[in-house]
Amino acid sequence: MFLEQFPEDGKYRGWIEVICGSMFSGKTEELIRRLRRIKFAGQDLLLFKPRIDKRYSEESVVSHNGATFEAIQVDSAKEILDHWKNERIVAIDEAQFFDQDIVEVASHLAAHGVRVICAGLDMDFQAKPFGPMPFLMASAEYVTKVHAICMSCGNLAQFSHRKTKQTEQVLVGAVEEYEPLCRSCYNKIKH
Ligand SMILES: [Zn+2]
Repeated sequence: MFLEQFPEDGKYRGWIEVICGSMFSGKTEELIRRLRRIKFAGQDLLLFKPRIDKRYSEESVVSHNGATFEAIQVDSAKEILDHWKNERIVAIDEAQFFDQDIVEVASHLAAHGVRVICAGLDMDFQAKPFGPMPFLMASAEYVTKVHAICMSCGNLAQFSHRKTKQTEQVLVGAVEEYEPLCRSCYNKIKH
């Protein structure tokens, strides 16, 4: 695996990693896998999530299989820099919900030696690139696309099909409204 290799001159440099995919593709599992290894290595880590639902202000966590990481909820990408105190690792979950400044923030951190790990949906339910994700993917050193399994045929799926008629891009707290579909099954439903 290419990740976490140190340059030959021994100098630690920053970079951007993106983990992307549809809903139910295991993005969070992959993020947590990386975060566990970082924690095990004793490296300083900050994890951020966008505050999507402003009605709730409780502690936000990202968890999977018993591993739990506290996430700092922020209202804007720039706010990430207010929290950063030279931690070597900055992870960003649900990166698709951030404003475009997230690209500049990630690049700024990487330029200062930070390993930036962004996880997010690459496409919305209409199969359009989601928010700042295409720009993050373009500027990242490493992009990992993970796949779900098509609910209809069992092939690898990369589309998050919304089963209801709502058309807003963000449906908060409604994962059950979606199903992962492959290209062929998604196209059959769309046309
Ligand atoms: Zn299919």
